[in-house]
Amino acid sequence: MAFARHDLYPMTESSCIFCRIAEGRAPAHVVWSDAEHVAFLDVNPVAPGHVLLVPRAHVAWVDELSADAHARLFAWVRDLARPVAAAAGAPHTGIAVEGYGVAHAHVPLVPVRRAGDLDPCRQEPAGDAALRAAAERVRSAIAEAAS
Ligand SMILES: [Zn+2]
Repeated sequence: MAFARHDLYPMTESSCIFCRIAEGRAPAHVVWSDAEHVAFLDVNPVAPGHVLLVPRAHVAWVDELSADAHARLFAWVRDLARPVAAAAGAPHTGIAVEGYGVAHAHVPLVPVRRAGDLDPCRQEPAGDAALRAAAERVRSAIAEAAS
């Protein structure tokens, strides 16, 4: 039997929460965006200040992006990593792409302090006030890094 990876997560673009966020049709604590990407806080962060960077185009997996689009996505991963860590007072940003959870390519950027801090079992829902404050810190750190 043929097995398509998409069978793991049958999902249409219209029902995709990350597409809806990218189009401004679903609420999110957006911390940065450009014409091709949106970065916003994970509402179930592994650690406070956990950012998800997604391409606006709907693809399920990062390896479905063109080589150029993949390179542009990961250039922003590089540029956002230090501000994400700085905003949380963490020494480093951990990056681990498992691709599960939502079937729209996403790169988690998580402030980390020690090995194991990226464990998805650490995810916990964050309250709106905490997310709002964390988003403001991340936006400020990004603005500072760009200046
Ligand atoms: Zn999508």
